[in-house]
Amino acid sequence: MEVIQHSGEELQKALVSNCQDLVKLYRKHTKEEKCLLEEGLHPGPTHLFQPITVHSDSDWIPAHPEEPQDFESFYRDPYRKSPSASHNTIYIQTIGSFGEAGFQTDQYVDWLREYCQAFFYGLSVKLLPAVSVAETGCTFRVNSNSHNLQILTGDLLRFLSKRKPTDAFCIVGITMIDLYPKDSWNFVFGQASLSMGMGVFSFARYDDNFYSRNYAGRLKKHLQPKQGNYSVFDGYYTPPITSTLLLRSCKTMTHEIGHMFGIKHCQWMSCVMQGSNHLEESDRRPLDFCPICLRKLQVSINFKISGRYKALLHWIEEDPSPASRSEDASACHSALLFPKPTEAFHTSKLWLRRCLDILEKR
Ligand SMILES: [Zn+2]
Ligand SMILES: [Zn+2]
Repeated sequence: MEVIQHSGEELQKALVSNCQDLVKLYRKHTKEEKCLLEEGLHPGPTHLFQPITVHSDSDWIPAHPEEPQDFESFYRDPYRKSPSASHNTIYIQTIGSFGEAGFQTDQYVDWLREYCQAFFYGLSVKLLPAVSVAETGCTFRVNSNSHNLQILTGDLLRFLSKRKPTDAFCIVGITMIDLYPKDSWNFVFGQASLSMGMGVFSFARYDDNFYSRNYAGRLKKHLQPKQGNYSVFDGYYTPPITSTLLLRSCKTMTHEIGHMFGIKHCQWMSCVMQGSNHLEESDRRPLDFCPICLRKLQVSINFKISGRYKALLHWIEEDPSPASRSEDASACHSALLFPKPTEAFHTSKLWLRRCLDILEKR
């Protein structure tokens, strides 16, 4: 295992920059905010921000050498995108089934929506009415190795471009069905067009059983569905909604939406914006930004850092008991049956509390 340890000076330059205008902009942060952001400059075992560790050559950094993006190069990038008063909503479009239990499915997608709204604090995140696979008119196939259904990403992006509302900052399609970008590829986790502000991502491979031989999404070997006959998607297997699936989905969504702002893969510190080549590496990433990426998002949206952390903590801690949620009887009943599974967010909860201790001098 290799630790990527940048010097305090390097990190300081990546966070603040040596240019006067950006130093001046940095000074606008409150004393407490600067204290938090600078916590990462001198990493130690008990610090909030840790160095990146590379575990094998198949990890993202050795496999995909990229130019690191510091705050200054992000800020000066002419292609980066910030929300504006007329384009300030992130839209989520679900494609295909998210599970058999209707209410639980709706609830799961709404948890994701609420999480994104806390994460991109200050923007509004809305769900578009769900669509079936058939409604997208997409091409699909059965993967010849894993024998599961897959949808062609380009077709979904084309569909999303027609659905994108005029006030959208971006539109993100999510599906529980596996994806492929072209015939010669085995699969892809997702695909995005930053210039068009849209992306599509699949959570299919976040199922703990995906790579096992008895994965329930494998079709019978002889089954070769005809193109255009979407009935094969009726009742097709979707992963069970667990705390781990929710955690992985939240991470993927926010990482990918982060790219929509022009934030590139992080090579500075352990961060949700680190590139990831495989599930083990995605699982290793923390749920939130390092200080450098946090400053990139902060300057794009202009939020109060403590407000954002509070919203995220609230999302994890929110009391799922029916009385606190709604007066509506059916909502009460369902909240009792499906409380938000946040066990996997425990470390993040403690981390957020420590950040708030610094920001609010508690
Ligand atoms: Zn990425
Ligand atoms: Zn980062």
